[in-house]
Amino acid sequence: ILIVLGIVFVGVAIYISLRMSKRAMVPIRAAFKRQREFVGDASHELRTPLSVLLSSVDAMDMTIEKDEMSVKLLANMREEVKRMTNLVSDLLTLARSDSNTIELKTEVFDLRPLSEKAIESLQPIAASKQIQLELSAPTDCIVLGDPQRLSQLIYILLDNAIKYTPNGGEVKLTLLKEGNEIGIFVQDTGIGIKKEDYQRIFERFYRTDKSRSRQIGGYGLGLSIAKWIVETHKGTIQVSSQIGKGSTFIVKLPDYVS
Ligand code: ADP
Repeated sequence: ILIVLGIVFVGVAIYISLRMSKRAMVPIRAAFKRQREFVGDASHELRTPLSVLLSSVDAMDMTIEKDEMSVKLLANMREEVKRMTNLVSDLLTLARSDSNTIELKTEVFDLRPLSEKAIESLQPIAASKQIQLELSAPTDCIVLGDPQRLSQLIYILLDNAIKYTPNGGEVKLTLLKEGNEIGIFVQDTGIGIKKEDYQRIFERFYRTDKSRSRQIGGYGLGLSIAKWIVETHKGTIQVSSQIGKGSTFIVKLPDYVS
């Protein structure tokens, strides 16, 4: 009888504490939800004033008489407004991904044309650092996904590869069919990433080696968006790297054909 009573007592105690901890979680969850909504609303509201600022800078650029100082100031203003616009757009994407309010516009398509476009649009930035940027895609790579989001993914990885590669390096995007998967490989000859940072770089606002990263600019949000895009497409993303030699980001997506 004592044993049975003991078991009943422990059972009741566990039940009560589970109910209490569940109830205690309610206000915490609500607070997180409010915080996410705030970030989403704030970034949404900031988009309009930022685009007004950018067009005002452009208008000033066309109308004012320019001396060396004002040319410099206008260029700085444009650069900073653009940086802020990108930050706000990244924050909005992440807030919407948290609340599951992003609808993917899925279709069946080949990744190659979209990759060619990304390479083409990043070519000037690569050229300004004498970086050789190339694409290798020997076969078609058919996926079921949102072309705009997958293009954003490739863009983030290529942009990083160029940013974190010193002048004169190489960046290569390779698309490969491997079994029933499509592999997207972004390989660079850049500064590299330490093993202990392999997971953390996909966290929001995480940047390795603060002082070096600061000089390069960015807010540490690109890879968390990349991870979200990959995961919503039922894929995986990982990195392999050697300090001072370079990094390869590897994305695997389901092959639509197989
Ligand atoms: P950001 O580039 O804006 O800082 P990301 O989320 O895209 O943000 O990247 C997070 C961090 O991961 C970067 O700050 C950088 O330290 C590191 N990183 C990303 N890509 C590379 C790369 N190709 N080579 C070296 N480091 C990288």
